[in-house]
Amino acid sequence: MAMRLILLGPPGAGKGTQAKLISGRRGIPQISTGDILRQAVADGTPLGKEAKGHMDRGALVPDEVVIGLIRDRLAQPDCAKGYILDGFPRTVAQAQALDAMLGAMGTPLHHVVAVHVEEEALVERLSGRRTCSQCQRPYHVRFNLPKTEGVCDACGGGLLQRDDDREETVRRRLSVYRQQTEPLLAYYKGAGLLKELVGEGKIEEIAEQIDRIIGHAR
Ligand code: AMP
Repeated sequence: MAMRLILLGPPGAGKGTQAKLISGRRGIPQISTGDILRQAVADGTPLGKEAKGHMDRGALVPDEVVIGLIRDRLAQPDCAKGYILDGFPRTVAQAQALDAMLGAMGTPLHHVVAVHVEEEALVERLSGRRTCSQCQRPYHVRFNLPKTEGVCDACGGGLLQRDDDREETVRRRLSVYRQQTEPLLAYYKGAGLLKELVGEGKIEEIAEQIDRIIGHAR
């Protein structure tokens, strides 16, 4: 019973947090292009070298790069039972490429869940965010503290601020979102896949809403 899902929303909407919860509950992988790209940067691979400049500026990595990356990832055996895409697609060209890929594989999407959060709340969340340097789990200096300061609850890794979570880069990322990613709301509405919710409130309550929206695997 596969479940193929996109979490759509601006940076800071909680996509990563929610994707990890759904992934744990449903036993399907979370696929975050941001996490894959950050790992490539940390490893100094050719992909990482190409992506780094774009990421540091808060700009998008070119479509063909992330599309290639997703093509490889979706071919992995663990995706047979479904997946949660977190941070992909981010442009209409990426969404069209994904449709073509999934059409060819005969594995259409089940849901696109859009998470809405007010802009000022996004800036506050992102600039207070801390991320585990090892497993990428997100925390927040006010809203989501680890049990021990500076240490990840899940894996014991050190918590760091992502370079692109500084305020001026955050503003840039939000404007990129509005210009390049927001058109996907209309795209997926047209496809009859869009489900929307407000991503403000308790993490667990938002997770329950998403659970209700996506229902049981098909
Ligand atoms: P995220 O962790 O999803 O906020 O992604 C961090 C950064 O990685 C973004 O600001 C982009 O530079 C890059 N990135 C992640 N996913 C994509 C994507 N689907 N298309 C283009 N760039 C991406």
